[in-house]
Amino acid sequence: MVAIVLLAVALAATACTGGGSGGDPDAVRYTPGAAGIGDSFYPTLGNGGYDVQHYRIDLRYNEEGRVGGGVFIDAVATQNLSGFNLDFAGWDISDLSVDQAAVPFTREGEELVVTGVEIPDGDPFTVVILYSGTPEPYPSAALPFPIGWLSGSQGEQFVAAEPDAAHSWFPCNDHPLDKATFTIMVGAPAGYGTAANGERVLEDDGGGSASQDAGTASEWEMRTPMTTYLATMVLGEGWEVVPDPASSEASGVTVRNFLPPDLVDDAPPGLERTGEMITTLAGAFGPYPFDRYGIAVVEGLGSALENQTLSIFDRQMVAAPFFEYVLVHELAHQWFGNSVSLADWSDIWLNEGFATYAEMLWTEHVDGDAAYREDVANRMQAAQVAGYGPPGTPSPDDLFGGSVYQRGGLVLAALRDEIGDDAFFTTLRTYADRFADANATTADFITVAEEASGDDLGTFFDTWLYGDEIPEG
Ligand SMILES: [Zn+2]
Repeated sequence: MVAIVLLAVALAATACTGGGSGGDPDAVRYTPGAAGIGDSFYPTLGNGGYDVQHYRIDLRYNEEGRVGGGVFIDAVATQNLSGFNLDFAGWDISDLSVDQAAVPFTREGEELVVTGVEIPDGDPFTVVILYSGTPEPYPSAALPFPIGWLSGSQGEQFVAAEPDAAHSWFPCNDHPLDKATFTIMVGAPAGYGTAANGERVLEDDGGGSASQDAGTASEWEMRTPMTTYLATMVLGEGWEVVPDPASSEASGVTVRNFLPPDLVDDAPPGLERTGEMITTLAGAFGPYPFDRYGIAVVEGLGSALENQTLSIFDRQMVAAPFFEYVLVHELAHQWFGNSVSLADWSDIWLNEGFATYAEMLWTEHVDGDAAYREDVANRMQAAQVAGYGPPGTPSPDDLFGGSVYQRGGLVLAALRDEIGDDAFFTTLRTYADRFADANATTADFITVAEEASGDDLGTFFDTWLYGDEIPEG
């Protein structure tokens, strides 16, 4: 789809510079933004020609299971735009305007194509899209199970969208390369609790101005840039936002969790270590990148996902003996994946390898150096038995495999052995700081490691990331 648009632009350019049409060669030309942002794995994700600054998502869930509301997108043109695409799958759009003027649009598969605009390069513009429908799980191109807006066994509703399902619940520029700040307003029937990313700035139990039909609502501000797939809303009858003052005090980060009724006064064992985990990882990676953290617990996700400042956990994960390690894993993503985001989905090891390595750091923190060595050795042996392939070349239709997680994590364990503790932790902290709120590539990480160590690490990374065989430890 990108190729077709580029071809159309090229043809238009030929026609214009030909001079035969009588046009002024100096006239400003306006062209449509590209239909993809250039991802090597998922070429239709994201779009070109603009840079989103802020999303305001305002949605209300009702008793019938329908959802309605809108999204307000503040963007800046990065070319002279005659039109642009958003990514959006499903739902019914009742109204779409650009700078308060209704404009033509069509829907072509999962591309929402806006035309009839003339926005100069560098100008800000605001898109408002009102829509409604019954949310449905999204068949991800990267996973063998549906993701997106999901329903739990207690009737709770939640969003888990990595990597490609954000546009199944709100129109967006759905790629980590276009991060933006967010305001999220969640409405629900009376008696429900509601939550989203960041700081809760407004809460309304039905009597106030935020609510129009005696339901409940809350508004959340994510003031640090966030990628679309990390945006979430979670709502459930009787769910509550539960502060964790001890973890907040220990870490200096405001910790609050969003828990089902039976856990409100009986937090799951291990969750009380959140503050200690933040402090431990901050010691390894540098300061925690946001001002809030916590988890939301639901039933029916089957896994856990690191939604920015509010990771989402399946109830089974919370009850599992390895809960603490999943907590550390999702927390580590707040640095690696969320603050430092990948630039291309083929680099997924930069997220999952780093979060898996954080599990080994937690072993080291809790049980000491010998336990760390044993953990690394055990994972190495398991990776060899499984025959994990190179983490630098994952499969686009199975993005989250064992090679990316386990062999990806072992890359960092091996790097630490290769360059020593000082250079290794300098590498992690420099990488987290240099690319905070931005995007990084594998090449960027290698550059930082080579700077910190003074070593040529080309062969090391080639072997570990792209070689068929797992190197001997
Ligand atoms: Zn992960």
